[in-house]
Amino acid sequence: MNDIEQIVSEASKKIKNADNLTLNNLKTEYLGKSGVLTQILKSLSQYSIEDKKRIGSQANKAKSIIESEIENRKDSLKKILLDEKMRNERLDYFPSFYFPFPKGSFHPVVETIRGISAVFKSLGFLVAQGPELETDWYNFEALNIPKNHPAKDLQDTFYIEGMKNLLRTHTSSVQIHVMEKHKPPVKVIVPGRVYRNEASDASHSSTFYQIEGLAVDENVTFVDLKVTLTEFIHRFFGYKLNVRFRPSHFQFTEPSAEVDMQCPFCRGKGCKICKNSGWIETLGCGMVHPNVFKAVDYDYEKYTGYAFGIGVERITMLKYGIDDIRLLYENDLRFLKQF
Ligand SMILES: [Zn+2]
Repeated sequence: MNDIEQIVSEASKKIKNADNLTLNNLKTEYLGKSGVLTQILKSLSQYSIEDKKRIGSQANKAKSIIESEIENRKDSLKKILLDEKMRNERLDYFPSFYFPFPKGSFHPVVETIRGISAVFKSLGFLVAQGPELETDWYNFEALNIPKNHPAKDLQDTFYIEGMKNLLRTHTSSVQIHVMEKHKPPVKVIVPGRVYRNEASDASHSSTFYQIEGLAVDENVTFVDLKVTLTEFIHRFFGYKLNVRFRPSHFQFTEPSAEVDMQCPFCRGKGCKICKNSGWIETLGCGMVHPNVFKAVDYDYEKYTGYAFGIGVERITMLKYGIDDIRLLYENDLRFLKQF
């Protein structure tokens, strides 16, 4: 009896800290065909009936204790192994561990592009993309910007490979790509980066983002343009703001207009941001010039359309009350963390 108790306590001690290999060896040592306990059970015939019963049940009990201790140890080894594996792999989507990095957020410019795109998508526009490296044709000529036009000046445009290619100066170039590939009706917005060969200051940067818009179909009128852009400003900035259209000039639209919205900071009363006018220039737009339709082989007798261009940084600055465009590109976390 004491022997069996001794065997169990000895086995327990060994099992407690055993690894998987040792556990298998212990199983053979105690419970295997020639294991310690199996030997005891085999030798029962030499005892009296009473002793047989006693020792037999004692040995069987010991067997099952050791068996379950081995299984428990195996289970906890599995858990230890899994814990270790997870600690080492440290999966991002398994946040139960301490995670030392703060949550990220969108850059305010990206946030603005997402917000503007969401409004136009809800108005039935699709999002299109186009190349940043362009030819003279897509960036200027097809958009009714002739040779010798001041916009093509070396001082405004980054030319590449001896004037053969250039970095697009506006997202309007994508209008041409879209119309070359698709017949009307067309209704797209084009968010993208553009480049200007100019020094940066508080309101200028040599690279910035625009969102171009284009809608072409039969019977598209200036009223459609007015309704769409007014709705955009209302949804993006607030329904109570007044919107006005002023005559303007762009080469690729006729007539052209500049859209102002009531200053959202002073509600039209006049403040520093709107230079006391009560109005803020928001974007440019107009009806697509027939020469642009000619360039893409659209029937300009049959189709009409409108186009608009939104300066993303300008809208971002207006939306968040930022007064220097350079803050958007300095990647200063103290600034970016506010959004
Ligand atoms: Zn104001």
